[in-house]
Order: sequence, then C-alpha cells, then structure tokens
Amino acid sequence: MKKIESWLECVRCSKNYSIDELRYTCECGGVLDVRRDLSKVDGQELKKLWDSRWGMKRGIESSGVWRYRELILDAPDEKIVTRQEGNTRLYHAGKAAQYAGLKNFYLKHEGENPTGSFKDRGMTCGTTAAMMFNAKSVACASTGNTSASMASYAACCGVKSIIFIPAGKIAYGKLAQALAYGGITLQIDGNFDDAMTLVQEVCEKLGIYLLNSINPFRIEGQKAIGFEIVQQLDWEVPDWIVVPGGNLGNNSAISKGLMELHELGIINKIPRIAVIQAEGANPLYRMWKNKTPYEAVKNPETIATAIKIGNPVSWEKALRGIEWSNGVVDDVTEQEIMDAKAWVDAAGIGAEPASCCSVAGAKKLVEAGIIKPDEKVVGILTGNVLKDPDAVIGYHQNTLTNMGIVGTFANKPKQIKPTVEDVRKAIS
Ligand SMILES: *Cc1c(COP(=O)(O)O)cnc(C)c1O
Ligand SMILES: [Zn+2]
Repeated sequence: MKKIESWLECVRCSKNYSIDELRYTCECGGVLDVRRDLSKVDGQELKKLWDSRWGMKRGIESSGVWRYRELILDAPDEKIVTRQEGNTRLYHAGKAAQYAGLKNFYLKHEGENPTGSFKDRGMTCGTTAAMMFNAKSVACASTGNTSASMASYAACCGVKSIIFIPAGKIAYGKLAQALAYGGITLQIDGNFDDAMTLVQEVCEKLGIYLLNSINPFRIEGQKAIGFEIVQQLDWEVPDWIVVPGGNLGNNSAISKGLMELHELGIINKIPRIAVIQAEGANPLYRMWKNKTPYEAVKNPETIATAIKIGNPVSWEKALRGIEWSNGVVDDVTEQEIMDAKAWVDAAGIGAEPASCCSVAGAKKLVEAGIIKPDEKVVGILTGNVLKDPDAVIGYHQNTLTNMGIVGTFANKPKQIKPTVEDVRKAIS
C-alpha cells in the first residue's frame, strides 16, 4: 500500500496545516479535520487487506482500530499505543428491538472496549499522536469515560495524565477508573463546559498535549466504529446508525469514516445518521429543529452524565456529517432514556444511561414514521452497564423520583425471611 498523503483542514474556513503541526484549532477558531488524498487509493485492495486482518490473534493490527490503520493514522509501529481495543460485538437487540418497534435492530456494544467505552478507540489514536509529538503529559476534561480511557492509555505508555472533571458530577465507576489507573484527578467547581474551557487554556500555557475530542486524531480512531460495523455486516450498509450525542465527536467520526469508505467505493450507500441528545442537554437538537444559529445550553442537566454537555466542541463537524448522510437529530426525555435502558439491560445486553439514547431515539423515530419498522438499524451502545451503578439501582428501587424518573420497568429486590416458604412465594 502506497503512503497516503494527509493534512489538517479547518472545518469552518478550509485553511490547511501540515499534519505534523501541533494544533487543535484553526486561526479562525474552527475545529480541524484530518484529510487524506484518496484519489490514488484502491478501495478494493484496502478492503481485502482489512478482511485478511480480521481475526488476527496478536499484534497491532489485531486491534479493531489499527486493523484499518491506512485510514486511521500513519504511525510507525513503535509509537503505537494499543490495548487491542475495538472488536466489539454487534448484537441483535432482542427485547430492546421489540421495544423500539424494529425487526432488524442491532446494537454495537462499544462498552466492551478495554476501559468500558468507545473512548478507547479515539484514545489509542490520540495517545499514539502524543507519542509522535513526544508529549510527556496529556490532559482532558471529561464527563468520566474520556478520563478513564486516557488514564489507562497514558499508564500504558508511561506519560503523565491530568484529568479535569466537574466535581460531584461524574458516575462512580468512571471516577474509580481514573483514580485506579493513576490519573492526576482535578475536581473543579463548575460543569463540564467550564472544565473544557480550563483544560484548553492549561494545555496551551503549560505545553500539555490535549486529548479531548477536539483533538483531530481522536476522531480518526473513532471512525473505526463505523468501519467495524460494516465489516461485521460483510460490507453491507445498514439503513440507519443511531448514536447518542454529547460533545458530538463520535457521530462526526462515524460519518466521516463512512464518507471515506464511500469515496473509496468500499460501500455503495451511506447510512443515515441519527444523533440523539438528552432533552436537558440538547443544543444541536434545538438548532436543528428551530433552524436557528448555534447556541450553547447554559445549565445542562441529565441523568445521562456522559452527554451532560451544553457547549459541544464538535457541533460543526456533527452537522456536516448529518447533512452528508441525510440524517436527523432528535432528543429524548430522562424517562425515555431510563425506560429504554431497562429494556437494553433486560435483553441481557446492558449499557450505561447515555448509551440508551440510541434505543430511546430509535423508538421515537419509528413512532414518528422517520425510521421504517423493517429498516436495518444499528444503535451504538457507547458505554458499559457497570459505569453507573447508581443509576441502575436508583431506577430499580424507584428512588429517582426527585429527578422526575419513575421505575416503570423496575425489577425491585425483595426482602424475605430465610425460609423455603418465603423463597417460594418470592419467585412464583
Ligand atoms: C463520550 C460519551 C458519549 C458522547 O459522545 P460524544 O462524542 O461526546 O458525542 C456518549 N455516551 C458515552 C457512554 C460516552 O462516554
Ligand atoms: Zn479556519
């Protein structure tokens, strides 16, 4: 395979920068994309190469990200930081499909990544870029999963990781991981958006490598979710991909990757991307629905802490991908998120609250007649069920009523006396 030329390009004004230049945004303030010259690349050859790597037992290309390394990052083997991420399962949604009103509904479980969320796909690429820039420390602002992932990958390659989290506002499992993997964890007084502003300034002034999804290399790694879905479907493209939206990096990544596959003729149609936000943190949805200019949501609120973001950095990239794919944006209520989660969990699959926006959103779009019941739909489950045990227990014990959420499908634990008779009653 010949070397593919790549560069950085501003999403807003199209100004180009060298791929070796250490920058996250354009002079104009726009976010940057990695662009490639694909005109001389043989798509069929690439597809064969990727198929030949499927099921590899060891080595860099056994990763579900680096399998596609030609379109991920041109990095020498010795710089690549990988935990064999990706290779996540694509389940039939089972009971959750019935709940959503769909027959051909699949769930891509990104919670099966090494640290329990899709963030690992971006992080393997982002920390590899950090290695290529010889960074000694890396930082991110996080609603939890980015910090868990970054702390792990930084530990694997021996760089210092500095984490900015909104105090008291991230799920327990995620905070536990950040501490366990040895991240320097700074709890700041404020919300995620405040942490994001601070970390950008800190990275600039203290020369620390920034690993939020504003980092264009994170997005490149996350493209592999879409690549893996179509490879798992033998290169058949689903009609829809439904994905939760917080900082809006993930949906941008998935659509960018699929556009590249389309340009290369590896796929012959583009799935429609549906981005689902939580009603209390829905700046993209407001803009989409009301056809108004972008405006941040001041005090974002949702039980789905992973997407509790009022000022998403990638909104421009997200819009581009949605328009490219003839996609849609929608939002769902707290109750809809947690009820959908109950079905994802009861199907035996399980995911954290934010992930279940995919199922809640699919259901809503089916009811609205936008997704047809017989269409093939893939929902992304972004994070593991164990990330947020408080949300699970709260729902099933019906103690979330102060947040306006009732345990509609609660599976309450039962208190019994230790007798066979009590057990018989309890299980009948
Ligand atoms: C980060 C995250 C999201 C949101 O992804 P964005 O790229 O920020 O839109 C959704 N769900 C989970 C579990 C996450 O960790
Ligand atoms: Zn620009």
